[in-house]
Amino acid sequence: MSTDTAARGSATTTPVATAVTTARAAYDSGRTRSLRWRRTQLAALERLLVEAEDELVAALAADLGRPAVDAWLADLSSTAAEARYARRYLGWWARPRVTGVPLGVAPAVGTWRPEPLGVVAIVGPWNYPVYLTLAPLVAALAAGNTAVLKPSEYAPATAAALHRLVPRHLDPEAVTVVTGGPAETQELIGAGVDHVFFTGSPEVGAKVMETAARTLTPVTLELGGKSPTIVDASADVAVAARRIAWTKLMNSGQTCVAPDYVLVHRAVVDEFLEEFGSAAREMRAGDLAMRVVDDRHGDRVRGLLADHGGRVVLGGDTTVTTAGTGELAGPGVDLTVVLDPDPDSALMREEIFGPVLPVLTVDSTDEAIAFVEARPRPLATYVFSRTRATIESVRDRIATGGIVTNHTMFHVLVPQLPFGGIGRSGMGAYHGKWGFEALSHRRPTLIKPTWPDPSLVYPPYAESTRKLLRKIF
Ligand code: NAD
Repeated sequence: MSTDTAARGSATTTPVATAVTTARAAYDSGRTRSLRWRRTQLAALERLLVEAEDELVAALAADLGRPAVDAWLADLSSTAAEARYARRYLGWWARPRVTGVPLGVAPAVGTWRPEPLGVVAIVGPWNYPVYLTLAPLVAALAAGNTAVLKPSEYAPATAAALHRLVPRHLDPEAVTVVTGGPAETQELIGAGVDHVFFTGSPEVGAKVMETAARTLTPVTLELGGKSPTIVDASADVAVAARRIAWTKLMNSGQTCVAPDYVLVHRAVVDEFLEEFGSAAREMRAGDLAMRVVDDRHGDRVRGLLADHGGRVVLGGDTTVTTAGTGELAGPGVDLTVVLDPDPDSALMREEIFGPVLPVLTVDSTDEAIAFVEARPRPLATYVFSRTRATIESVRDRIATGGIVTNHTMFHVLVPQLPFGGIGRSGMGAYHGKWGFEALSHRRPTLIKPTWPDPSLVYPPYAESTRKLLRKIF
């Protein structure tokens, strides 16, 4: 019995085991291979997002205090756009290809085509719990896989909504949803699935990879980290400050690609702080209190602010609630700017994932680049500059998941671009055809005729044959 079969056969009656067995049977039925089935599922996913909009928006509000417009923009429309794009192009992505072959292999035709992998386990985080659970599902379905989804336990209303809605709209055997925390996730990863698609923190990513390694289950890891932003002396500082403020405020900084900290040229740092403060106050109608997901995360962010060695130049109140700010009432932390914290402080070592922005003064682009390069590779790097040489230096010298110039984060919303990390910020990429490819196996088939079958290719080889073979191969 192969290890695969042994792992599959070990299923007991836990919800996770049942979900994997069900998804496996659906895959083995062969129905997911047809392009028609894949398109039908993607269309059904788009319908789910429209028909269940109110239910999902209510769940996101309950879990995260997310206003309806943000929920629609960040979670629903982004997922629908991925599904629509994949539905449109998957026929092209899945097409079989024909290639030539080297002389030594001729006559023959080489063909290859993307094949599904089988059952994909999708593990989501809490911060965009619809988008980051269902966008990987788009890739899995487009590539003809079945899937078991495990949404985050820290967005329980959304997890429950997905548990209810997904089987109602999609093929209920091909896409199953399990709920739970680390124990259930570990069980899922070790349950004989064919691929694990994980979005979450680097620390948990390492645990996921460790468990997956035991069964040689491949993983895609979409992780986090500290994404830096560089503002050089030539930048349009007002635009930079406004865009950084806007994207830092989104979901209270609890976004994997949020600008984590800013390296600002000394010549423009005062202007930057001034512009950032007024942009943020304007966007928040004067109230800097930002909702964080729960007290656990609130305490973590407060811990980062306890001892940073810098100067608080905006906000700083760490025990606020968000009643009356447009978000649902809940635990909060002021949008806080810390100028020149100690680079070795926890604030500058750990991913902030909250409404705190460290601003570090630098004297050159080289200094900024060296600062970033001395740290773990980030998920994204942003550079605001009107100088081509600066932009090119950042592009060529910083190893990072992605780069945006003169804005932040928006590469996430472009399905034509691969999205993923490098080093500690992740491995593998998805969105659009990149997700399709991540969850496909490129399988070659070499087609040989039975004739000709020259005897000279078979041993034993005469000296003259050896010379000829050396020329051909
Ligand atoms: P997390 O790593 O704590 O949890 C993610 C998932 O892992 C959850 O479903 C959770 O149940 C599961 N999990 C937790 N402990 C586990 C364990 N020991 N074994 C197996 N599974 C376990 O992440 P989070 O707090 O939900 O999200 C925040 C992190 O995710 C941040 O680091 C952020 O940058 C990152 N993130 C990355 C992306 C991206 O696209 N690269 C997107 C969003 C968030």
